[in-house]
Amino acid sequence: MKQLILIVEDEHDIVKMLEYNLQKEGYRTASVSNGSQAVEAATRDHPDLILLDLMLPGMDGFEVCKELRRHSKTAAIPIIMLTAKSQEADKIVGLELGADDYVTKPFSLRELLARIKAVLRRSKRQGQLPEVMRISDLEVDFSKIQVSVKNKAVELTSKEFELLKALIKANGRVLSREHLLDVVWGVDHAVEIQTRTVDVHVTTLRKKLRSAADHIVTVKNYGYRFDHEG
Ligand code: CA
Repeated sequence: MKQLILIVEDEHDIVKMLEYNLQKEGYRTASVSNGSQAVEAATRDHPDLILLDLMLPGMDGFEVCKELRRHSKTAAIPIIMLTAKSQEADKIVGLELGADDYVTKPFSLRELLARIKAVLRRSKRQGQLPEVMRISDLEVDFSKIQVSVKNKAVELTSKEFELLKALIKANGRVLSREHLLDVVWGVDHAVEIQTRTVDVHVTTLRKKLRSAADHIVTVKNYGYRFDHEG
């Protein structure tokens, strides 16, 4: 089955050009021209990748990105942001909010296609975790459900383990508290008191991970990500 790419772009000429070239490369395409349609289409069609224009009428690309990452159905869909802005600050905000990559307009088609391939490859890999993962001082055995730091075993509760696993699996991507509540606790509609549950568990998880605690990075007012370099 051909992979589906959702194009979110309000400039008709760019949409036509992308559709033509992506289909020629063997992808299926769908396209929408504003943010709320993008969220709707992503939730309904679950595309393999989203090309998301930053400057959209109404809800902009950053808001769309945030919204998609907030819900478990769309949280894992890879996103490449398209934008006319090349400022470093925008790039950082985009990546913090969970975009996987960034292409500045005017982009070369060859470069865009290469990025699409790379992001799709990466997202395919993310699906499967190795049995044992070593990240500097931290060692996580996913099959035995064991964690150690500097070769000393760390006793984690099952929720703490699931939390750590979800963060590692996201491969550096920021996960919102709502998303973590959903995947770790199975709570779909988050309320304030519940999102705080995530914070409390992250705090105890960090304490237990001692020297490896810095891998878990707080993204203010949003959630957490796992830093593999940390
Ligand atoms: Ca635009």
